[in-house]
Amino acid sequence: MRALTEHPVVIAGGGPTGLMLAGELSLAGVDVAIVERRLSQELPGSRAGGLHSRTLEILDQRGIADRFLSEGQVAQVQRFGASLLDISDFPTRHNYGLGLWQNHIERILAGWVGELEVTIHRGHEVTGLVQDDTGVDVRLADGRSLRAQYLVGCDGGRSVVRKAAGIDFRGWDPSTSALIAEVEVAEEPELGTRRDEVGIHSLGKVEYSIRDDGEIVWGEGPVRVMVTEQHPGPAGEPTLRDLSEALIAVYGTDYGVHSPTWISRFTDMTRQAAAYREGRVLLAGDAAHVHSPAGGQGLNTGVQDAVNLGWKLAQVVKETSPESLLDTYHGERHPVAARVLRNTMAQVVLNGPGARIDALRDAISELLSMDEPRKRFAAMLSGLDIHYDLGEGHPLLGRRMPDLDLVTSDGPLRVFSLLHDVRPVLLNLGERGDFDIAPWAGRVQSIDAECAGPWELPVLGAVAAPAAVLIRPDGYVAWVGGRTQQHELAEALTDWFGRPTAAQ
Ligand SMILES: Cc1cc2nc3c(=O)[nH]c(=O)nc-3n(C[C@H](O)[C@H](O)[C@H](O)COP(=O)(O)OP(=O)(O)OC[C@H]3O[C@@H](n4cnc5c(N)ncnc54)[C@H](O)[C@@H]3O)c2cc1C
Repeated sequence: MRALTEHPVVIAGGGPTGLMLAGELSLAGVDVAIVERRLSQELPGSRAGGLHSRTLEILDQRGIADRFLSEGQVAQVQRFGASLLDISDFPTRHNYGLGLWQNHIERILAGWVGELEVTIHRGHEVTGLVQDDTGVDVRLADGRSLRAQYLVGCDGGRSVVRKAAGIDFRGWDPSTSALIAEVEVAEEPELGTRRDEVGIHSLGKVEYSIRDDGEIVWGEGPVRVMVTEQHPGPAGEPTLRDLSEALIAVYGTDYGVHSPTWISRFTDMTRQAAAYREGRVLLAGDAAHVHSPAGGQGLNTGVQDAVNLGWKLAQVVKETSPESLLDTYHGERHPVAARVLRNTMAQVVLNGPGARIDALRDAISELLSMDEPRKRFAAMLSGLDIHYDLGEGHPLLGRRMPDLDLVTSDGPLRVFSLLHDVRPVLLNLGERGDFDIAPWAGRVQSIDAECAGPWELPVLGAVAAPAAVLIRPDGYVAWVGGRTQQHELAEALTDWFGRPTAAQ
């Protein structure tokens, strides 16, 4: 078998997760290739509807949030079941969500990746893999193969990589399904959401804008249909006739639907990979977890998987960290998606039909109108409450570093701007020169700064300002302490960023 070429990391699948991971690895100096089945980044339909606050922060950490914000609709979009959860009082620069269809998200991500050194083999399909002690042979449909030290399956819910690696995909079969489509209509329908004895349905336009008061202003062009089916639909691509019948069953008319650009079916199948790593094969995004789209969390979770994995894999490939660092990827991200699976299952029930569920929905809505429950659920859905278990300590440990305004000897700057090139930061807010991290110089930035103003975290509120924090490249805090804890700092630096090198 001819090898196409060799790269330290090969990514199967160039959807949102694969693109984000490729960008992260490339910024961290790793030669990475994507193998993507599609010939171009074009998506036939719009798919996911937008980005949540923490994903916007993650993109901001790389200096690319504005590319997305300038094309989308900033709004309070977060829902749990029927309850809209406002996060405008959250302590983040992105105290909102962004309405932006997945085809645009992918186009913008692909544009960013195109500026970096990433090889993309388009029009190639991964069909299998064979791994040995030193790497993985990635088999392609045309009979060729690629050699990699590590293969990451970002190849979606039906992941070939997951299956070939023998990783279990445990969970629950669908209990409900819906048809989703973009179509022209002969008769203009009433746009909006409807509930009935089958479930929830919605008709809207692909083009829309959101006014400051939250009202949606529909644009021209195709109608976006989402209609729940009476029974979970069969596997396989639905037809225009299926769509027409489903519309008639709910609305009594199909509005003369014609000229579909996209018809698809989604379900609430809920499954998660038992392991995110099997030797030299890793999984991220939908390849690792699938669930109902309720709450719009799938793409967001995948992009954040990529940002957790990228810098770790880069360090392992560059041999600054041992392979065991990769186990923290499963350790940290598996619980996050497990929680998404659970909250989407709950939302599917809340969106269901029947008087008893109506009563449950009312009860939950009442609970979520109270401040504390609203904050907790909104922080969960937005990803702002993610807390990796890095042990006992200051509340910041394992949580996202807030994007504080700093004053340094070079002038004012924002914390996130220090993370643009995927490098960790030791931020010293105490006496200048309190810490000597020369044995990690080149790997870890050391910044002396002053920070005015309170340290406030979502849900937790104000926390004591630390003397120093060690921030990982994904923006999570790896260590919090002061000048008397140099030993603990050295341990954290070694654990996360590799052994010290002799001072030059
Ligand atoms: C109706 C609907 C609404 C949604 N709304 C939201 C939302 O509002 N917010 C949200 O966060 N999520 C939402 N989601 C979920 C979101 O679309 C997915 O979670 C997201 O696309 C996952 O990204 P991914 O890159 O992991 O996988 P995918 O997007 O599935 O990308 C996988 C890529 O791999 C390629 N590929 C697959 N197999 C192979 C192979 N063997 N060889 C080579 N290439 C391969 C595919 O062509 C594709 O490009 C929604 C989903 C649906 C269906």
